[in-house]
Amino acid sequence: MRRRRAAGTASAGYRDRQCQCQRGGTLMATQDCIAVINAGSSSIKFSLHALPDLTPLFTGKIDGLYRGAARFIARDAAGHTVGEHAWTTPLDHQAGMEYLIDFAESHLDGYRVCAVGHRIVHGGVDFSGPVPLDEAVLDRLTGLIPLAPLHLPHNLAPVRALTALRPGLLQVGCFDTAFHTAQPALAQAFALPQAITDLGVRRYGFHGLSYEYIAATLPLYDPALAGARVVAAHLGNGASMCAMQGGRSMASTMGFTAVDGLPMGTRCGALDPGVVIYLIEELGMTVESVQRMMYNESGLLGVSGVSSDMRVLEASSDPRAQLAIDLLVYRIGRELGSLAASLGGLDALVFSGGIGENSARLRAAVCRDAAWLGVELDPAANAAPPAGPARISLASSRVAVWLVPANEELMIARHTCDLLDPPLPESGEHP
Ligand code: ADP
Repeated sequence: MRRRRAAGTASAGYRDRQCQCQRGGTLMATQDCIAVINAGSSSIKFSLHALPDLTPLFTGKIDGLYRGAARFIARDAAGHTVGEHAWTTPLDHQAGMEYLIDFAESHLDGYRVCAVGHRIVHGGVDFSGPVPLDEAVLDRLTGLIPLAPLHLPHNLAPVRALTALRPGLLQVGCFDTAFHTAQPALAQAFALPQAITDLGVRRYGFHGLSYEYIAATLPLYDPALAGARVVAAHLGNGASMCAMQGGRSMASTMGFTAVDGLPMGTRCGALDPGVVIYLIEELGMTVESVQRMMYNESGLLGVSGVSSDMRVLEASSDPRAQLAIDLLVYRIGRELGSLAASLGGLDALVFSGGIGENSARLRAAVCRDAAWLGVELDPAANAAPPAGPARISLASSRVAVWLVPANEELMIARHTCDLLDPPLPESGEHP
């Protein structure tokens, strides 16, 4: 267990590490902060967190990379826009990172980025926790690209860009798969020949940083849940569920890839593999078009024909929009039963992600269908939950229902902080 600090405590030892720097001819005291980068195929999301408490300073993103219409926006902790920019020529990850560094340095008066944490979708079987991203690690991760060809290259591009721009700056890889490496062997296995399993064809699970955050947060709000059997549902554009006990991942709905499990915004979720063979053999579809259909044209969008956005579907009177919502609720219910079985019972159900945090209707429908497990939702708390983690079940409910806003960025900032060299002085737990 690495050393950790108490929420809100500025350690004297750490203050000693604050330094003086020359900016615009003026000698200024600087305070270190950690940058968190979450890079996808067409966007780079970032946030900056001040040490020692990881207080958020800025969040923002560049989207529209490679399309000739990239846009940048940054907001401060109060939500005020502090930077905006648009490009008319195509921008790649390298140029995007250069812009972000320039922005950070010119807008962070008094702060200095001392380390960068990256969200990395796949760490294979070997990476069961965060690691400094040196050349050797980058080479090993490049070797994992066949496991996540749609995501991993985009996660690694900003790392390489930053290595070139700021050699020596600590960069830490935080993996979506790492939390699930602790799952029992049975939960990770496909019933395939051993030779195929040995090649790494097994269930990995994703959204691990979100579940790790939930596992760390829930006991702070209800200590009775520290060793409890918990099923968490991270419901965003990507959606999955995870069974946890005592903060350990026991099973998850996503498997070898992030297309398995629940129907998502545009991903189909679990599919009889015979369907894929049928599409290729009988309908003559190419592998590329099947992949595009499964990842980009299915899920809420494919079923509804209306939108992948839950807000649009909930506002629509089109019966296909309702069908898409009903199918998501039904699949969540089926997976909940399966995950509860993997735990031998259920003590708590947690909603997170854009849909889980914001759709009272979806939460109510899921909890209605889960009454057989002992779930009793509090309709008033569900309709108007307070900000932050909140219990939304009745006091009489055998299963506690919680809403925990996703915060993968804070989890990455914590992991990055834990790998600082020299480490921060010890004085308790992270915020
Ligand atoms: P991502 O996986 O891209 O991080 P998010 O966690 O932001 O996605 O979730 C996006 C989803 O959350 C979208 O389907 C969006 O419609 C849904 N969502 C956001 N706000 C609301 C709301 N007020 N009511 C219902 N759904 C919402």
